[in-house]
Amino acid sequence: PFGDYTAIMAEWAAIKPDEPALSDDHGTISWAEMMDRVDRMAAAMQRDGLQRGQAVAILGTTGIPYALAYLGAIRAGGCAAPLTTSATPTQLAAMMADSGAMHLFIDAAKADDLADQPLPAMTRIMLDGARDGAPGLDEWMAPAGSKPAHRAPEERDPFNIIYSSGTTGTPKGIVHSHIMRWRQAAGGFKSIYGPESRSLLSTPLYSNTTLAVFLPTMVWGGHARLMGKFDAKRWLELASANRITHTMLVPVQYQRLLRHDGFDKHDLSSMEQKFCTSAPFSAELKGEAVRRFPGTLNEIYGMTEGGVVCMLMAHKFPDKLHTVGQPLPGHELIVLGDDDQPVAPGEKGVLCGRSPTMMLGYKNQPEKTREMEWRDAEGNLWLKTGDIGIVDADGFVEIVGRAKDMIISGGFNIYPVDLEAVLLEEPEVAEAAVVGVPSEQWGETPVGFIVTAAGQEVDANVILARVNARLGKTQRLSALHLIDEMPRSHIGKLLKTELRERLGF
Ligand code: ATP
Ligand code: MG
Repeated sequence: PFGDYTAIMAEWAAIKPDEPALSDDHGTISWAEMMDRVDRMAAAMQRDGLQRGQAVAILGTTGIPYALAYLGAIRAGGCAAPLTTSATPTQLAAMMADSGAMHLFIDAAKADDLADQPLPAMTRIMLDGARDGAPGLDEWMAPAGSKPAHRAPEERDPFNIIYSSGTTGTPKGIVHSHIMRWRQAAGGFKSIYGPESRSLLSTPLYSNTTLAVFLPTMVWGGHARLMGKFDAKRWLELASANRITHTMLVPVQYQRLLRHDGFDKHDLSSMEQKFCTSAPFSAELKGEAVRRFPGTLNEIYGMTEGGVVCMLMAHKFPDKLHTVGQPLPGHELIVLGDDDQPVAPGEKGVLCGRSPTMMLGYKNQPEKTREMEWRDAEGNLWLKTGDIGIVDADGFVEIVGRAKDMIISGGFNIYPVDLEAVLLEEPEVAEAAVVGVPSEQWGETPVGFIVTAAGQEVDANVILARVNARLGKTQRLSALHLIDEMPRSHIGKLLKTELRERLGF
């Protein structure tokens, strides 16, 4: 059976009308209030002529108005297009045009950022109050009690378009279907959420990382507490005051929380399930999270495009903390070598996956979609992740890095992660990143960046000499730079393109 997300939410609103559904930094709304507003938003979108499957663009800080625009789009039979707030004005204009949206929900801060940028013609609605002739949500939405025409979704109707992080290039619009979202919520994760679930979300709602917890929380009748901006102290206060049961945090957030002075003073005993995804999560930090942070820790490895989802139940597999676990039931994984054919067991290669939760494709980019695809001898469709990994004898997957970040120096393959691990062995080094830059002599050569532990003074050249003495001849770093902070995206991804740019490449 296939479920209609917002129709199920309407049923929860009838079952538990007065229970909290959504909270943000400004307040809380109940299930009845939320569904009334979602219906009024959807009715207004239909009033304006929103076509079935048409995108609704949303750009702004995560909070209740943002969630209402997202859910309203789906209720109307449209498709939510939450735009990456950190993208440049030119990228945002390109995303808006690409999405084909007729509505743009935006907040004042983002409207200011885009003031000089030509944008496609769209009906503009302000998420945070009327401004410059554009209505606020309350004036714009249909009158209280309005109901949209019900457009029961078909399996392959688009549910949302999510623009990829652009970590490795120009953002691509990833289209998820209703059936994909439904399988995600109703499959392996169903038993995890219920009407007593209280989820704390501190990453932005435009990211699939956040949606992976937000959507199942809503469809199983829970309560989502949305934070506009992550702050370790505030997170701890909210988690204990709201008796939070579920959360999604990226590795840097685990690090900030565990390092916070107040961590052990807060009562987090209500926590049941904590998730982590998006970026490499060190075995050391995972171990610390298992020991000190209440609730089960599940690390997820996957990509917005779908294809494969691996999960590591960190509490159950203390010997496997250096891995991202095993593919979830129904998900298959293979490792491809340089010739695009499966490698022998235990060998490194590009991870490729097949699952019931694959994207429909990249919006308007059939070429890019085809580049991702791989077919086996039976003609089955798989998606290439672009990540290099190894599957161990027990079937656990170890991520080595991104294929695009691999360095080929003097004919040897250098995996940045190996050099980063050696840099991290230095007691003064808190964070390390290695990128490849062009070299006349070697083709490419590795260059390192380090951030020191608080209060540590170091000379980068001294560390460079120490580290190079331990590295094999073909792996030695050409240079090492000390920086104040690693450049990271809003969801904690290390931006290696930015590091290469700093070196002029
Ligand atoms: P773009 O495709 O635009 O370059 P992106 O790949 O960073 O952006 P996402 O789909 O959000 O965008 O991220 C998926 C990628 O994140 C994976 O391919 C992998 O490199 C990384 N990743 C996700 N989960 C983990 C994890 N648990 N451990 C290590 N890396 C992870
Ligand atoms: Mg990607």
